[in-house]
Amino acid sequence: MNNMYVETFITFEAAHRLYDVNTYSEECRNNIHGHSYGVNIKVSRTSLNESGMVIDFKLLKKIVNEIIELPYDHSCILRSIDPLAEPIKANCKKVHIVEDNPTAEWMAKEFFQSLDEGLKDVDPELYVLSVSVRETEHNIATYEGGLEDAN
Ligand SMILES: [Zn+2]
Repeated sequence: MNNMYVETFITFEAAHRLYDVNTYSEECRNNIHGHSYGVNIKVSRTSLNESGMVIDFKLLKKIVNEIIELPYDHSCILRSIDPLAEPIKANCKKVHIVEDNPTAEWMAKEFFQSLDEGLKDVDPELYVLSVSVRETEHNIATYEGGLEDAN
């Protein structure tokens, strides 16, 4: 375990809808709407590489772009049981149909897992420490490695 880590931050735009869910607020429930998402990623390595880095920032940016920005920017994320999922998938280019409600918490965990895999493909000593997803200016969900599965 190394106590050095690097951080990077990206933003993207996406639409989602929470379906068949009991939420306190109604804004995200049953309405398709968009957010300007912000994603903060912390990455570490078992020890610094021979260049004295956790990872080259440009390489990290490329991996984050391929795993998060390209697939999710201007996409629509819907739950599989949502009756709109299939018609929207049939008529829109970028649609993600997911099993659970596409909350900021879901995104943080999904991005954590796919980034951790993507980084390990490049360098097995890399690992993700945390992914935070900012859904609105004031609200952030964070998934951290090493914590017990919240589900
Ligand atoms: Zn929302």
